[in-house]
Amino acid sequence: MEKRVYNFSPGPAVLPLSVLKEAQEHLISLPGVGMSILEISHRSKYFKEILDEVKTNLRTLLSIPEHYAILFLQGGATQQFSLVPMNFLRGSGKSSDYVVTGSWGKKAIKVAQAEGSVNAVWNGASENFKRIPQAAELKFDPNAAYAHFTSNETIQGVQFFEEPNVGDVPLICDASSDFLCRPIAMEKYGLLYAGAQKNAGPAGVTIVIIRNDLLERIPDGIHEIFNYRELVKNDSTLNTPPVFAVYVVMLVTRWLLNHIGGLAKMEEINRRKAQVLYDAIDQSGGFYKGHAAKEDRSLMNVTWTMTNPEIEQEFIANAQGRGLYELKGHRSVGGFRASIYNAMPIEGIELLRDYMIEFQKQHG
Ligand SMILES: *Cc1c(COP(=O)(O)O)cnc(C)c1O
Repeated sequence: MEKRVYNFSPGPAVLPLSVLKEAQEHLISLPGVGMSILEISHRSKYFKEILDEVKTNLRTLLSIPEHYAILFLQGGATQQFSLVPMNFLRGSGKSSDYVVTGSWGKKAIKVAQAEGSVNAVWNGASENFKRIPQAAELKFDPNAAYAHFTSNETIQGVQFFEEPNVGDVPLICDASSDFLCRPIAMEKYGLLYAGAQKNAGPAGVTIVIIRNDLLERIPDGIHEIFNYRELVKNDSTLNTPPVFAVYVVMLVTRWLLNHIGGLAKMEEINRRKAQVLYDAIDQSGGFYKGHAAKEDRSLMNVTWTMTNPEIEQEFIANAQGRGLYELKGHRSVGGFRASIYNAMPIEGIELLRDYMIEFQKQHG
């Protein structure tokens, strides 16, 4: 097999090697089916089995209560930026609250503004999105249609470690880049969505977990393909769902359950992995500078810059010589970003750490 490099891409991103191997092995013929996963009908009993297993596995991993439905949709998290206000803001006579902690939250609120009344409860733009607000800084509207936040800002590398307290208002979360990285208290959420291609599978499917009672609030007149109530009623098969992407997410959930041993274990591993890189930054005497405030640093996306931007290019180029790829930071933050999702092995992180230390010795 061709040698694999360590892929620190923010998404689509690294997947577990065992998942890729299994998908490859069964690509021509699914065991007991005799057809490729790329060839089976979304109405077949085989796909129904895959759909049922992935839902069961997600329920186990995240302790999702029975009164929540799980959807597999297309259109990415970006489409959810629209679906959320279409379903829950339109015609509600209410306003919606948004906590804006980075580039994705900024996009989400912009889309919602086209649909109705929107209130930015907090916006970190003036601080260059370096931190997450403290609970005392957040004053939510008790009559809001919903409150929306981004649990992990993929570009800035800031993450919530506790959900905002919104009382009885439905809490809606874009969890695209930290979905399945740790256990969460699902009962706190009204709706949670995540594009799969960061931490849960390939591009092409978005997971939506929604509390059933919210479906009753959806106004009439929303096209059925954009209507959560109709999508739930049809169990994600109102039209053809992304069969292959759902299958790979199913394999990833199996890997989390059987190989990792659940999300508490996964979190433990993720904390250990992130610590290795944050230690390298903190112990560099200012040669490397973390973007995010220490207490809000993401377990998934590690962002940092160098005091001397001229050698940043050299850092990236030489990294590739070591098999360390996709480390360039987003243009809005600059510097570097190492995305270290669930599937990034500790070996890749230690190699990056060693390279950072060596690079500093040569240039510090
Ligand atoms: C990547 C990302 C998105 C956009 O996802 P698409 O699937 O490209 O629409 C939205 N929110 C967050 C937090 C992301 O990381």
